[in-house]
Amino acid sequence: MIIGQIKDGIVLDHITAGRSMEIYNVLKLGKLECNVAMIQNADSTKMGKKDIIKIGTVMDLDLDVLGYIDPGITVNIIRDGKVDKRYHLWLPERVVGVIKCKNPRCITSIEQEIVHEFKLADKEKKIYRCIYCEHAAKTKSK
Ligand code: ZN
Repeated sequence: MIIGQIKDGIVLDHITAGRSMEIYNVLKLGKLECNVAMIQNADSTKMGKKDIIKIGTVMDLDLDVLGYIDPGITVNIIRDGKVDKRYHLWLPERVVGVIKCKNPRCITSIEQEIVHEFKLADKEKKIYRCIYCEHAAKTKSK
């Protein structure tokens, strides 16, 4: 993996090709003042094509959200130009405040201030259900 000129930062590797923009938006990387580089459709021996995001600072990442969007991502924490820590993501048990329940009769549709929360109901099929009404969310993961 090419780290480039990052001395301290984060490299999100093995992002499903075409999904980096979504991750960029969800993590609000546009609001950071440091360098952020997105590489789209990089060649990958493992995946064919992949996206990579390089962030020029070590920041807190919501790994549950990342895992929900794309559980195949590898998170590399870079310190002093070397990979200090590496995480492989997973499908989170709970997703809070990311997916919205589409059921018009759900309490979250009526009470605006309730945070939308989903729990993993089927790991194989990647089905998440609203904790209030059991309505299934369609995950974007493949
Ligand atoms: Zn609901």
